[in-house]
Amino acid sequence: MALFPLKKAFLLISMAFTSIFLASNLAYSATPPSDSTSSEEEPEPLILITNVNIFDGFSPTLIKGKSVLIQGNHIIKVDDDIDEEESKGAKVIDGEGRTLTPGLIDMHSHVTFMAPEGTNTFTYEWDFGAAGAMAAQSLRDDYLLKGITSARDIAGNSRGIANAIQIGALMGPRLYTSGGVLSHTGGHGDWGAKNDAEPNDYGALIQQSYIVDGREDVIRAARRNFRGGADFIKIMAGGGVASIFDPLEILGATKEELEAAVEISSDYGTYVAVHAYHDDSYNRALDAGVRSFEHGFLVSEETVERMADMIDDGDEIVWSFQCFMSVNTFGSYESMPDFFTHEQKLKGVAVGEGARKVAEMMKKHEVFTIGGADMFSSPYKGMIKEDITCNVDAGYTPAEALKHWTGNAGIVLKWSGPLDPYPTYEIGTIKENAFADILLWDGNPLEDIKLILDEDKLDLIMKDGVIYKQELK
Ligand SMILES: [Zn+2]
Repeated sequence: MALFPLKKAFLLISMAFTSIFLASNLAYSATPPSDSTSSEEEPEPLILITNVNIFDGFSPTLIKGKSVLIQGNHIIKVDDDIDEEESKGAKVIDGEGRTLTPGLIDMHSHVTFMAPEGTNTFTYEWDFGAAGAMAAQSLRDDYLLKGITSARDIAGNSRGIANAIQIGALMGPRLYTSGGVLSHTGGHGDWGAKNDAEPNDYGALIQQSYIVDGREDVIRAARRNFRGGADFIKIMAGGGVASIFDPLEILGATKEELEAAVEISSDYGTYVAVHAYHDDSYNRALDAGVRSFEHGFLVSEETVERMADMIDDGDEIVWSFQCFMSVNTFGSYESMPDFFTHEQKLKGVAVGEGARKVAEMMKKHEVFTIGGADMFSSPYKGMIKEDITCNVDAGYTPAEALKHWTGNAGIVLKWSGPLDPYPTYEIGTIKENAFADILLWDGNPLEDIKLILDEDKLDLIMKDGVIYKQELK
């Protein structure tokens, strides 16, 4: 913690700034923001939400007939009845039997890749100013105002954006970020051209990606990310769909490179997430101590069993499922984005077919799972929540799908340890001492998951105790 005075400073002033910012944006805020000049003894405002059925981020069924008391930015009590003395002076919201869930958490986002043509057009079409502006608008409209109150940005220069949200200068979800992704030459993060003699430095220039070949490069890039405020590290360990030079079957990062990433991340008290698709790359990363496993749509049951066994033995590892991009978008050659080449589309089809099979195996072996939409480019950016309904299409129950996007996600966010930008309370759950990131739904998403796609059914959005949407009386 002592290594990050700037970050700590942001944290300390964040509450005051959030209040000031929101006071000028009351179109979105029904909650009177606390007066930043008030004395410290003045208690933070209370909000009491009564008469709700709760999905707490983990429960397979709704917990019926509860009330939730919020003070400032966190939940202080969940109970059948909360007596008048405890909730004295609270603003009361009658839930009228609605379903209350935690705010949604997208664990695989690419907020700085929202350019219309796809991911790598920053080399010839857009600059980073545009990337940041597109990210800011999307984080407000496609994330926060649709009920996604936290996101893990996994590859890209979103550290400044994350800080701007935290201090209230931008409206968006809590953002945890990897900073620039680490990729070998010719890997999923190499945006150079085929005939470049030197690694293309554009990715490094705008801090979206770093070309790393060898242990020293990995150490430097990881430390550079941490210096800039990254919360964890992402590295490419195998081929990708959206990149040009790397067949899905290849191995990316070497054993030595993965171990270096894990070593530096462990030194900072946090973890490594890996982009990989098949057995060899997954197993190499498992050997090296990587903890968050993205994609994996070509792995065998043996590898899935290995992950399940490790979890049984107490290892904290997770499978991170990107259902929308694999099952929906890559479902068929025709459904692939137009900006993909023929080769990219063929790779996508293989991934789409594998994804359903792997999801079945992960469920069968009860591998700890989170979800993330892997959303990039403007044609899709409004469809993030379809990743959750896709989980149900892929065989999970609605409660499991929501757990991937709430309770489980909140656990993994905390793996950032001392780098956690929101360390005070739990995230993704409804209980005492959890951040007040709360949604109210008109209906029961555990019975009909599709209702989460209907914005008219989302009657209340609260993040950090502040209401951004309220359609209740
Ligand atoms: Zn991705």
